Amino acid sequence: MFDIAVVGAGPAGYSAAINARKREKTVVVIGQNTGWLTKAERVENYAGMPGVSGRDMFETMRNQAADMGAQFRSGVVHQIIGMGESFALSLGADFIEARRVILCTGAAQPKRLPGEEALLGRGVSYCGTCDGMLYKGKRVAVIAQGPDAADEANFLAGLCEKVTVFGRPQGALDAKIAVCERKPEVILGESKATGLRAGGEDMAFDGVFIFREAMAMGALMPEVEMDGAFIRVDRHMRTNVPGVYAAGDCTGTPFQVAKAVGEGCVAALDAAGSIK
Ligand SMILES: Cc1cc2nc3c(=O)[nH]c(=O)nc-3n(C[C@H](O)[C@H](O)[C@H](O)COP(=O)(O)OP(=O)(O)OC[C@H]3O[C@@H](n4cnc5c(N)ncnc54)[C@H](O)[C@@H]3O)c2cc1C
Repeated sequence: MFDIAVVGAGPAGYSAAINARKREKTVVVIGQNTGWLTKAERVENYAGMPGVSGRDMFETMRNQAADMGAQFRSGVVHQIIGMGESFALSLGADFIEARRVILCTGAAQPKRLPGEEALLGRGVSYCGTCDGMLYKGKRVAVIAQGPDAADEANFLAGLCEKVTVFGRPQGALDAKIAVCERKPEVILGESKATGLRAGGEDMAFDGVFIFREAMAMGALMPEVEMDGAFIRVDRHMRTNVPGVYAAGDCTGTPFQVAKAVGEGCVAALDAAGSIK
């Protein structure tokens, strides 16, 4: 069990991890090497680091967190479940347990497809490793919107009769996989997913796998209160759920590294102080 789990590897998450380590708490950062900051050619307005490239700044923060003893796990957290004194975070087929959670998930809130929420666990899945065996010898659709999508689709290709990928995942795909250029619009089915409407056409599948870079808050932890598109927090970066904090772009504008780093620090110090 970790003292603190940080969801999202960006400036807010790394700052939270650095400050949690400074208070000698065990910390794990869960995310991928793909935060918004890596897309910034040059950051001119961060005090003390004029003209640094976004990628260099990102790597420096990550290395600093690693040097201070933060641990990292690669992937997307699909769900966070409160268990009284701690939280279970689902990551692929694994669960990570932590006493406190700091959400540093950025501003990009993916929209769920119509039908997705209702059919989750009934033909719709976010995890090939967890659910792939249920579709052995069957036909599945893969909606590829995240960096792990190619690996997951290739894994499914080893089990399923037919895998059809929607989107253009990073990485090579197994030759058995069909790629469809149509845009997924609706997941079809009443009590169970039966297919996908894409580009206006209904296509039959036994299962639909969705791989994204992030999760909508309503799926990740529905009990966390929102303020429009952003997570509602107080001055200590506490959410309405005791033990759960939020920091960075996910709490609102301005979308700036300085704000993300500051909020990550505040959240980590409060979270660390609350663990006896
Ligand atoms: C092109 C560009 C240029 C910019 N230039 C500047 C600038 O000059 N100065 C400045 O101050 N700011 C700039 N910004 C803004 C800055 O990059 C952001 O404000 C900052 O990165 C926010 O940090 P964050 O940690 O809150 O979120 P992010 O950096 O977005 O990191 C969040 C991470 O969490 C991940 N994540 C989300 N959900 C999950 C989940 N369920 N499980 C695991 N991981 C998850 C996301 O994939 C992402 O990697 C720029 C942004 C862009 C796009």
